[in-house]
This record gives sequence, structure tokens and C-alpha cells, in this order.
Amino acid sequence: MFKTIEDEVLKKAAPAALQREFAQYHFERQQRFCLLIYIASIVIWLVFDLIVSFLGGQRFTYLSPLFLGALSILAIILGFTHKARHFDRLNVLFVLVMTLGIRMVIHGLPVSLQPAWLVLAASSILYSASVLPLSRGSFYAALLITWLMLNPFYNTDIELFGLRGTMTACYSVFLSALTLYSFLKLRQARLYAYIMAKLLLDQAYLDTLTEIPNRRSFMTTATRQLRAHPREHDHYLAMVDIDNFKRINDTYGHDIGDQVLKRIAAAIKAVMADYEYARLGGEEFAVYLSGVRRDDVEDLAARLCRVVREDPSEYPVTVSIGLTRVADSDSLNQALRKADEALYLAKHSGKDRYTFAA
Ligand code: GH3
Ligand code: MG
Ligand code: MG
Repeated sequence: MFKTIEDEVLKKAAPAALQREFAQYHFERQQRFCLLIYIASIVIWLVFDLIVSFLGGQRFTYLSPLFLGALSILAIILGFTHKARHFDRLNVLFVLVMTLGIRMVIHGLPVSLQPAWLVLAASSILYSASVLPLSRGSFYAALLITWLMLNPFYNTDIELFGLRGTMTACYSVFLSALTLYSFLKLRQARLYAYIMAKLLLDQAYLDTLTEIPNRRSFMTTATRQLRAHPREHDHYLAMVDIDNFKRINDTYGHDIGDQVLKRIAAAIKAVMADYEYARLGGEEFAVYLSGVRRDDVEDLAARLCRVVREDPSEYPVTVSIGLTRVADSDSLNQALRKADEALYLAKHSGKDRYTFAA
């Protein structure tokens, strides 16, 4: 089953809006990790800067605190960044400053050591970028900037077609291909995992026949609202049940019964759009109304009965509604029981009406 759904998902290209949603979700989830990578890179850069400054004899100049300050500011900005697309740009800037800082440190090394250290630094940056939640554009930019700034052939002593040069060039190409491939593969795997989770979650919380929320969804959302304090106005719970529905099934068949269920769900969705509604099962629906007055609840219930009654259909039906005010001390199950008792009263006093719990 899982495999079948997965195959369906993998067949289609993800729409742009979904990709944006994924990028945002992914960034929010990984923001702390990004910050960790930034801080770790700054610390590592600083350690190498100190080594080269003192052991390498480069001397600690004003450039070191300048780079340290700029990198730290970018890390602080990351802490306050909320949008994935802002992080994409920020990372380009971070890579730019970091590679400039690295170039400065490596400049203090003996010339013969410089190409190897430039490639080592480039590999660290590209590896880090490949695990960050970046867009493809931002990763390509990081790749480009890294090789522009850390080009092992610029200002060093190696020849492209000599032994060291050819080996360095081959390794650089291999490294770029490897990090690019792992970035793209990792991103795609995460994107599909996100789409799968979203799809399965939607299915788990939606009633397949009527396409409105199901009992599981209702229990979660209504419980959350029930526990919300302080309450602005009262909370009410409504149970809606189709009158004589068995007769519809018996007279016209199950398919027509299903059509009627969809129609009632659509009516509830239209009238109760501002509240939490769901199909609890069978031909029973519930609505949790928070922040309402008794008058509003009566208006809404009367409107729902009227909309269903006056619906010009070949298969006319009516609904009965049981209502209860949800007391502060009520659990959702207690409130559902009270609404069910009120529904019983509505059924036994003629149907096609709403009744409040005693
Ligand atoms: P009352 O006015 O007292 O509510 O009478 P009723 O006939 O509606 O009685 P009841 O609520 O017990 O009937 C529920 C019926 O709903 C029984 C079952 O066959 C039918 N039903 C439950 N789920 C579905 C469904 O998914 N599709 C269809 N077509 N019928 C369903
Ligand atoms: Mg029923
Ligand atoms: Mg019924």
C-alpha cells in the first residue's frame, strides 16, 4: 500500500507551490542545524587564522577581527531569519565572506602548500552547503563563489597541465560533482518524504466520501479549542443527524444515500465555514462552535435546517441538531454525550429541528 502511494507520488513532478512550502518547512526544521554549521565554521576558521597568524608568522592584523565580525553578524542575522528564501540569499553572502576570509588565511602559508589547502577548504564548504536546506539556485551560487574565491590556480605556483595541476583540477571536478549530486539527491529525497507525509496526513484526517474532516481530525481540533483559555464568549457543540436516512438507502439505494451524505456535508461546510465541523461516522456530523453567543448558535442551527430542507433535490431530506453549551469543566466526550441527548430530544419531538440539551 505504502509502496503504491509512493510510486504515484514519485511519478509526478512536485508543483512549484508545494516545493516552496517544502523549502519553508525544511528551513524552519533545520534552522538550528544551520546556525550550528555557521558557528562551527566560524570557530574552525578562527582556529586556523590563529595558527597561521602566530605559528605561520602571518601576524594578527585588523583583517582578522573584521572577518570575524562580519561572519558573526551573518550568524546573528540567521538567528532572526524566518523565510527560506532569505536564508538562500544570506548563505550566498556567508560563503562569500567565508571564502574571502579563508583566502586571507591561506595567503599566510608557504606558497607550495596553498593549492592543497585551498582545495581542502573548498571541500569543507561544499560539503557543508550540500547538507543545508538550500534552494538549488543558492547551492549553485555557493559552488560558483567557492571556486572563484578558492581557485587553486589563482595566485599560486601550480600549472594546470603539470602533474600537481592536473591532479588538483581532476580532484576539484570530482569533488564538485560529488557534492552537487549528493545535494540534489538529498533534496529530492526530503521533498518526496515531505509530500508523502503530507498526503498521508491529509488522508488520515479527511473523510474520503464527503471530503470534510473526519472524527480523528475533529477530536484533535475540538479538544484544542476546548482547552483554550481564557474563553471569549461561550463554546457550543452541535451533533447533526440526517432524518430517516435509512429510508433513503432502502428506497433509492446506497449510492443515492452517499450522494445525500455529500450534499449534507457541503451544506454544513457552507453554513459552518467559520467553525470546526466533521463527519463523525455514518450519517452523523458534529460542529464545534467557539467564541459564540447562544443567539448565534440558534441562528446557525436554524439556517442549517433550512438550507437542507429547502435544497431543491430529487431526494429531499431534513436534519435534526442537538446542541449543548460546553462548560469549562466538560471534556469533549462529555460534551458529545450531552449533544447526543439533545439530538435524541430533537428526534423525538418531530425531527427537522434543533434542540438544546436540558
Ligand atoms: P433517524 O431519523 O432516527 O436518524 O433515523 P435514521 O433512518 O436516520 O436512522 P439511523 O440514524 O440509525 O440510520 C443510519 C443509517 O445510515 C444506517 C446506515 O445504513 C446508513 N449509513 C451509515 N453510513 C453510511 C454511508 O457511508 N453511506 C450510506 N449510503 N449509508 C450509510
Ligand atoms: Mg444516526
Ligand atoms: Mg439518522
